[in-house]
Amino acid sequence: MSVTENITSILNELENTKLICVTKTVNPERINEAIRAGATIIGENRVQEFEEKADSLLQCKKHMIGHLQTNKVKKAVEYFDVIQSVDSLKVAREIDKRARDAGIIQEVYIQVNIGNEPQKYGFKPDVIKKGIDEISSLKNIHVTGMMCIPPYVPPEQARPYFKEMKALFHDLLLETQRNDNIDLKELSMGMSGDYRVAIEEGATIVRIGSAIFGKRKY
Ligand SMILES: *Cc1c(COP(=O)(O)O)cnc(C)c1O
Repeated sequence: MSVTENITSILNELENTKLICVTKTVNPERINEAIRAGATIIGENRVQEFEEKADSLLQCKKHMIGHLQTNKVKKAVEYFDVIQSVDSLKVAREIDKRARDAGIIQEVYIQVNIGNEPQKYGFKPDVIKKGIDEISSLKNIHVTGMMCIPPYVPPEQARPYFKEMKALFHDLLLETQRNDNIDLKELSMGMSGDYRVAIEEGATIVRIGSAIFGKRKY
């Protein structure tokens, strides 16, 4: 199947759920094929890789979905419409500072380590409320969503993590209703292997790479 055919069939299937076309390791020609076929948002993991491709891309929205080192934040703020991978207070503060320097308000999602995995980035569920409280005081950040990458397990086994994420999202939505810097709308979860389960459990935006472009070659 071609990139065009894959995009077309996934977009048909998704209906109201938004698609982020994950383009790490994919060259600009193939990314542009996806954009021509109807993809409107791309997701990249590394600032430097994105920078090399940026000038060749057709118009689209850009989301940062990979862990950000502090020294890459300035460029990330320059390039990305949304930074989904806010996984610590430290990176949130740095984004706030760089956004202020640039005279913009940066849209971000908060990344949750929903499986409490030691090797993974993101706020653990038991500290997320405190984390969001502190982030909400940063004036140059606007929080519009939450993102998670559950443990790497077969799709049905990921379902409880998606459920828990949705419950957490709902709790925080209620708690932050009167906060001007937080407007939780998007729940970003689900990848090529498990996006159908994620949508059943409430994802509003899914991140799909290999089901569009085939297996990645690093
Ligand atoms: C690579 C990646 C994806 C897409 O993974 P696929 O299994 O290829 O769909 C989604 N989210 C993040 C954060 C990624 O790094």
